Amino acid sequence: MRTRERPRIGILGAGQLALMLAQASNSLDVDVICAGQPGDCADQVAAVTTVDLGDAASVSAFAVGADLVTIESENIHANVLQNLRLYPNARAVGIAQDRLLEKQFFQSCGIGTAPFAPVDSLDDLKKAAEVTGLPAILKTRRMGYDGKGQARVRSIDDAADAWAEVGEVPCILEGMVNFEAEVSLIAARGRSGDGVFYPLIENRHRDGILRTSIAPYVNLELQRQAEGYLTELQQKLEYVGVLAVEFFVVDGSLLANEMAPRVHNSGHWTIEGSATSQFENHLRAIAGMELGSTESRPTVMLNCIGSMPSEMETSAFPELFRHDYGKEPRPGRKVGHLTFPASASAAIAEWQKRLQG
Ligand code: AMP
Repeated sequence: MRTRERPRIGILGAGQLALMLAQASNSLDVDVICAGQPGDCADQVAAVTTVDLGDAASVSAFAVGADLVTIESENIHANVLQNLRLYPNARAVGIAQDRLLEKQFFQSCGIGTAPFAPVDSLDDLKKAAEVTGLPAILKTRRMGYDGKGQARVRSIDDAADAWAEVGEVPCILEGMVNFEAEVSLIAARGRSGDGVFYPLIENRHRDGILRTSIAPYVNLELQRQAEGYLTELQQKLEYVGVLAVEFFVVDGSLLANEMAPRVHNSGHWTIEGSATSQFENHLRAIAGMELGSTESRPTVMLNCIGSMPSEMETSAFPELFRHDYGKEPRPGRKVGHLTFPASASAAIAEWQKRLQG
């Protein structure tokens, strides 16, 4: 591993998060290279090397060409993350990629969660329902995202179908929470333990997929509670980089749902809405640079799911910022997002209608 004056950061993955990290690197004294496949989103702006992310030798060979390595997805096998100069570290990623370890870790940090129980068989599922109560959600421990790998269990009669639907793999059963809102907190922590927080964000999902993020979610007490929780998680994990935690607001308090050891969809608005975006602060943190200000303006982000509105359609709305990830349209796929100043309420309402029906 060489050390250059201008650090070269290797990103494992070349999707839209890598694309936006690479875009943010343009204003910093760092270089970015990505591990993926030709034609991945980041190919538009950065060097993408063909790497099999499931193969330790392929990943190691890529890492030799970088001074340090980061990830854009937690769904990378723990085996390939060993012996890399990786930020955040492999332990943090390993916990975040397994819903059972993640929930147990939240609890060990004194952070409340929905009731849950591990499930490794149909029999376990029936017993777990007694712990969580019903209705509940069966979630695969690994590789779940955007509502994938989940099945609702409304009554015990649903158990066999739900177990078959998730593919009979290790799961957790989680009691349904009657939340007032879903919020997330994004934090960046540098190598020397210095940290910054963005304001809480309100997130609205449909079919398990994030549709809308609204910042800030103004509640000083919850902001303080969330910052305390993330500080505890970061310290226990010796965390470096951006960490996002999604919470349910229940009875005026926070229950942790999941954490992402990376930049997060609910923070895309920071590109235009904050003095320093989550992408730039992630790069700053892992490269050992001073973190940038998170001073932010009220901002709304709408995800484009399935297909991207054309430039012609969006250009009639000068208030919005259009981010096209350059992906092929496909139902349920995040292909881009639109960001608006919160004051542009008519444009936001119009685009909510167009994108979300
Ligand atoms: P997840 O993949 O765990 O983030 O779940 C996707 C979405 O499903 C969440 O953002 C919630 O809208 C919903 N959801 C997940 N778990 C629960 C729960 N225990 N109670 C109520 N809604 C949930």
